[in-house]
Amino acid sequence: MIEKLCPRCGLRFSYIKRKRVGERYYYYAVHKDKGKITRTCYLGPVGGYEYVSRLHEDLQLQLFSIVERSWVDYVRSMVESRVELALENPSMLNVVAGEVREAARIISEAASRLKLELSMPELEVELKARVKPYKSEVFKAVELEHEHEGSSTLISLTLAERLCHYGVATKEFCAVVEKLKAE
Ligand SMILES: [Zn+2]
Repeated sequence: MIEKLCPRCGLRFSYIKRKRVGERYYYYAVHKDKGKITRTCYLGPVGGYEYVSRLHEDLQLQLFSIVERSWVDYVRSMVESRVELALENPSMLNVVAGEVREAARIISEAASRLKLELSMPELEVELKARVKPYKSEVFKAVELEHEHEGSSTLISLTLAERLCHYGVATKEFCAVVEKLKAE
């Protein structure tokens, strides 16, 4: 039997679910632990990958066809899922940080073999959001105000504190957290 490893997060899943949204169907990998659903990972649209699903009822096969479709998308979603996982489970942070470093090393080695100049402007990107303290009667948070979209996001003080504690937030962000805590 094939090991059921989720292409999104790399962990074992229990089964594939097909979900209908309007006219289209989408695949999800359902992860269960002791009979309870612990997470579902989005895999992709049914039939969106030039695969005739009616010929094959074997979902595992369809899953592999999804994975093989674009390895760059696959790498991206894999990395993003691992990072999400680490942010949800701080005990995973070190493991995932190691994986990211290793992946970066593989990619830069490949780039130098291909004689590509690897410039990564994303790494030097300036902060796109204004960071502000937010206080209501019942709740303190850090507000991220996106300058171009005109939208803002609230991050609760407890989550914000954890992001600073684990070193994944910027100095500016953590300065606002410290200020809020002191108030
Ligand atoms: Zn998954």
